[in-house]
Amino acid sequence: MATMKPTIKPMKVAQISKPGGDFEIVEREIPKPLQGQVRIKVQACGVCHSDVLTKEGSFPGIQFPRIPGHEVVGVVDELGAGVSAWKVGQRVGVGWHGGHDGTCLPCRRGDFRNCVNQKIAGVSYDGGYQQYMVAPVEALAAVPESLQAAEAAPLLCAGVTTYNSLRHSGAMPGDLVAVQGIGGLGHLGIQYASKFGYKVAAIGRGPGNAPLAKKLGANFYIDSSATNAAQELQKLGGAQVIVATAPNSKAMSALIDGLAPNGKLLVIGATFDPIEVTPPQLIFGSKSIQGWAAGTPADSEDTLRFSELTGVRAMIETFPLERAGEAYARMMSGNAEFRVVLTM
Ligand SMILES: [Zn+2]
Ligand SMILES: [Zn+2]
Repeated sequence: MATMKPTIKPMKVAQISKPGGDFEIVEREIPKPLQGQVRIKVQACGVCHSDVLTKEGSFPGIQFPRIPGHEVVGVVDELGAGVSAWKVGQRVGVGWHGGHDGTCLPCRRGDFRNCVNQKIAGVSYDGGYQQYMVAPVEALAAVPESLQAAEAAPLLCAGVTTYNSLRHSGAMPGDLVAVQGIGGLGHLGIQYASKFGYKVAAIGRGPGNAPLAKKLGANFYIDSSATNAAQELQKLGGAQVIVATAPNSKAMSALIDGLAPNGKLLVIGATFDPIEVTPPQLIFGSKSIQGWAAGTPADSEDTLRFSELTGVRAMIETFPLERAGEAYARMMSGNAEFRVVLTM
């Protein structure tokens, strides 16, 4: 009796095969989900600046070849053993939080966002720059039906980072909240801050972004290249929170004196230069500086539902998967308006 070999359909992926290597479009077999995993037919995946950690191999312990991508939206295509809470055909997303162990001390305290063995999609395992992706159930967020895949994808990292940091910032409706930087993170931060009922001051370089900032919901626009932005914030009464999105430590340092008493500089734009501050700048007025990273898949679901409810959307430029290298270069140029998204 002749045995029929099952046909294994290949899929296209955009992989990096060595640190600093270029994107390679190659065919691979469609992966099978193992115990506690699902397979996702990817519809869209955002290109985030943190993908540089995969592209350049700068994340400690990363192995190659690796497929980047942690702003993934798609449909569950196959369930691994033991998966009961998700259905084939269900819309899901995967963000930066790619899984947690459930056993470390932060996890035992319910603080999964700070798991010491946290996995990151596109770093710890292959991410969304491919047609089919396998992910552990701890990484899955349900995606509302009304959101388009390419629009929703950036909300899984840039969206949840701004939404979740702002909602935990302590700012109350009516408080002055400043958003520094009008880019991939900032254009979402302005929208969320406005929908949260804050008085929003957008801080950008040059007069060019003023109309857009107002359109996104900013009440004030401060041109940091023409004025002293900290002084301008003080004229408005001082900011309760300044969310710093542009990866520029010098610009962040210059804003600290724009805080109101008990105000907070909330740092989400990642760069490796030091932020400079003198102790008296913090002591007088009890001011603080806090960092924030993304959120759990449950936080992502909150972000997606809030965005669906209020109309907050990412402004995107889309590229097909085959042009991943070009899409990445566009993101790195800083000229994209504002999030770059791959479509499959
Ligand atoms: Zn990201
Ligand atoms: Zn843990």
